[in-house]
Amino acid sequence: MTKRVLIAGFKHETNTFSKLPTELDAYRARALYVGEEEMRAAYTGTNTEIAGFMDACEKHGWEPVLAVAADATPSGKVTKEAFDIISGMILDAIERQGPIDAILLQLHGAMVSEEHDDGESALLSLIRAKVGRSLPIGVTHDLHANVTDLTCDLADVLVSYRTYPHIDMHETATKCADLIARTLAGEISPKVWVARGPQLDGVDHGRTTSPGPMLEILDMADGLTGKHDLLSASVNAGFPWADVDYVGPTAIVVADSGNNGAEVAVNVLREELWRTRETITIDLVSAQAAIAQARETGMADGPFVIADFADNPGGGGYADSTGLLRAMIDADVEKAAFSALYDPANVAACQQAGEGAEIELNLGGKCEPSLGEPIAASGTVTGLYDGGFKLEGPMSTGLSINLGPVAVYRVGGIDVVLASRRAQNYDLQYFRAFGIEPMERAILGIKSAQHFRADYAPIASGISVVDEGGGITSHNFKALDYKHARRPLWPLDDIKS
Ligand SMILES: [Zn+2]
Repeated sequence: MTKRVLIAGFKHETNTFSKLPTELDAYRARALYVGEEEMRAAYTGTNTEIAGFMDACEKHGWEPVLAVAADATPSGKVTKEAFDIISGMILDAIERQGPIDAILLQLHGAMVSEEHDDGESALLSLIRAKVGRSLPIGVTHDLHANVTDLTCDLADVLVSYRTYPHIDMHETATKCADLIARTLAGEISPKVWVARGPQLDGVDHGRTTSPGPMLEILDMADGLTGKHDLLSASVNAGFPWADVDYVGPTAIVVADSGNNGAEVAVNVLREELWRTRETITIDLVSAQAAIAQARETGMADGPFVIADFADNPGGGGYADSTGLLRAMIDADVEKAAFSALYDPANVAACQQAGEGAEIELNLGGKCEPSLGEPIAASGTVTGLYDGGFKLEGPMSTGLSINLGPVAVYRVGGIDVVLASRRAQNYDLQYFRAFGIEPMERAILGIKSAQHFRADYAPIASGISVVDEGGGITSHNFKALDYKHARRPLWPLDDIKS
């Protein structure tokens, strides 16, 4: 008989230092697709886990039961209302669209809700209460997951991305679904092992764009997989901007339940996570230093890209801190562009003034002025847009994004993209969709920490990453007030190895 496999996604990377709660509207703004028709329209042919799961159904001859796929831009805790409604949609689909033979879940792995420090295990507990212990559940995670023991107990299979920038979403889902297929066929009886050390951050935060600890530990994981006959081995770099007890990197191993080597393997990976904790492969510099470097490099081979690490909306940053943009304006840079500053009030002001109008605006700096006051600017509205476009770069290729109403505002030699929604810039479309051709610019200022490299590195004459001003995604962890994370915890505490 045809197996029926339920597919659902409920993702969030929660920055508990953000004072902005993640409400249901934040999901509606990014992704809240309910049921077969909406999910197929949004994900078919995309590089996403949901597309990977759907394709796996076709490959294995399963009937997919498409419940819901929900994602919101990283920000503060997910509200109780949003958590209850979205998890309720999944539970409802299990109940109304059953019977089902297995569940495939796309989770981020770093969700904190108002009610649950570990959103993933809370969701899995609710699902297990409905379906029992024996129904196979396969879970995918972002590699910036903070994984608990309970999540690993409740899932039969857990597989994380192996790339940062993340470009292997579809592949990760395929691996997970293939292991569930073997489970349904009675070939394996998988179990998940997890291990963590006393560390907040590690494996170079998971970067796979240059040789370093993440690529080395993944090689090691592959070696252990062969040696101990594991089904899968994942390494999570963790998400350090979450003040929860279990925060930090983890090693994850999936193996047949009787496999004695799994424990050995997961501990080898844990030791490697600890051994390499201090290695970082990027330089974090001041905005002034980045601009000086851009001027030195020139634009012969494409634009010089300056990334605002400390206010990365992809990690929960407010996307409106002004340090980098102010430094670019003060330095009178020419042929430059910036994308995107979160500033809905000024988008509305630009709309009201109309294209071509010269107006004065106080740019950004509204969410948390202590991270940089608004910039008093005088400039011209050069474009107005509805903010919707499709991603064309290697990350989440084909997925639709909507920044809400957008205005392009020219200040001196800089075209600034003002957006009504927060979003990390990891695709050239964050400029092109708004009439700005990156190849014709000398300097691009962007709100991103690492993901931008997937699409920007191939065209950039150079890259600088700026970490200053104390944003809530800064690498300076000691400046953040951790109250709930377990202690001692490196690098907040000195730990003798
Ligand atoms: Zn991530």
